[in-house]
Amino acid sequence: MERFTTVVVGAGHAGLAASHFLTERSIDHVVLERGEVANSWRRERWDSFRLLTPNWQSRLPGLRYEGPDPDGYMTMGEVTGFIERFAALSRAPVRTGTGVTSVRRVDDGYHVTTSGGEIHCRTLVIASGACNRPVVPPFHEAVPSSVEQLTPFDYREPGQLADGGVLVVGASATGVQLAAELRRSGRPVILSVGEHVRLPRTFRGRDVLWWMDASGVWDQRYDEVDDLQRARRLPSPQLVGTPERATLDLNALTAMGVELVGRWAAVRDGRALFSGGLRNVFSLADLKMERLLGTFEEWAREAGRDGEVGPPESFAPTRVPTKTRLQLDLRGGEVRTIVWATGFRPDYAWLDVPVVDEKGRLRHDGGVVDSPGLYALGLPVLRRRRSTFIHGIEDDAREVIDHLAGFVGVRSNIE
Ligand SMILES: Cc1cc2nc3c(=O)[nH]c(=O)nc-3n(C[C@H](O)[C@H](O)[C@H](O)COP(=O)(O)OP(=O)(O)OC[C@H]3O[C@@H](n4cnc5c(N)ncnc54)[C@H](O)[C@@H]3O)c2cc1C
Repeated sequence: MERFTTVVVGAGHAGLAASHFLTERSIDHVVLERGEVANSWRRERWDSFRLLTPNWQSRLPGLRYEGPDPDGYMTMGEVTGFIERFAALSRAPVRTGTGVTSVRRVDDGYHVTTSGGEIHCRTLVIASGACNRPVVPPFHEAVPSSVEQLTPFDYREPGQLADGGVLVVGASATGVQLAAELRRSGRPVILSVGEHVRLPRTFRGRDVLWWMDASGVWDQRYDEVDDLQRARRLPSPQLVGTPERATLDLNALTAMGVELVGRWAAVRDGRALFSGGLRNVFSLADLKMERLLGTFEEWAREAGRDGEVGPPESFAPTRVPTKTRLQLDLRGGEVRTIVWATGFRPDYAWLDVPVVDEKGRLRHDGGVVDSPGLYALGLPVLRRRRSTFIHGIEDDAREVIDHLAGFVGVRSNIE
């Protein structure tokens, strides 16, 4: 049986960042990847996908975007290339095409079963991603079979859908982006909206994510966040990365002709039943956005950065439709396809260590998992608000691998 001090599961940017710091501390390790480097970006996103984080924010340990368009947003090919470059630069010992099918605790570490054989390791880093499976509510089973159902993992481009109406469920980043693309393809689109995070693409002349970064909001640590469980479940913001730096909130979608309905609550007799109260849902999202923008303004004033940004700017409240449907007959042919943009969850089916709670979440404290020598990276608000984003991994990975080095008794050679 092969032996390593550390096995890293997953060669996305999180696993590769772990490898970078393990190499820096001369800890022998292997990175096991069931597909290819940057597999999730290659296999699990749609064709027109672009990052919603600007290019200048694409930074990994020892690698940053240095192209001609720092304020642009990477296409799928560009993200994949960026992560591949990072793997090559850090000479990560990646074994592609090697799925981990089981991890068991043994006396002095972990026994890892892979599609390519058995491995023993003292420590293991779970970097298998936070978004391995789309979440779809159980009532999807009651949807009539005449309506096709897709998740963002199945969706590639509008041409793959039957002609006719589409119901997109969920108004976070994925839902608003797919609703806009489908509407532009000429289809009638209905968007079912629950709790969401509204953000303008730019505020006072700067990308809203510049504000998140500069004001320190994104740097807030997990042990300083008031309600950590809630922060970890927060939906992704309504943002899209386009060359025009356009805002894609519900007002923009309404202007495009997308019909808004409430949260999809149930299916009864072939009818979709939506919650009422859109007005409240919209006011809450507007209020939270205003509060966040207020925090940015306060920071700019106090930090003397007011001169670096544009003049004050305000945004119209989300427009409430004059009439909102509470029901939709799914047998009538108005809707031919449903796209479930209702979130994603991690998949730990391969992890035979009792560290996953009843809701399928890993029990950990800042990436130190509740089992000796077991670590995690790349989960929401793992150590900071920006933990799941590409530019959030460097500090998290350094700190988690520092802990791991302490566990195996390796002194940091960069101290
Ligand atoms: C739709 C969407 C849009 C996003 N947009 C942005 C954005 O604009 N900017 C940004 O910074 N972040 C964005 N993110 C967040 C985040 O950067 C990505 O989710 C990123 O892919 C996470 O990196 P990761 O390395 O943690 O996980 P992943 O990239 O998912 O990597 C995990 C790897 O583990 C492998 N794996 C899983 N299970 C096993 C196993 N059992 N055995 C072997 N290998 C395994 C997978 O094949 C995969 O390659 C987005 C996420 C999603 C879902």
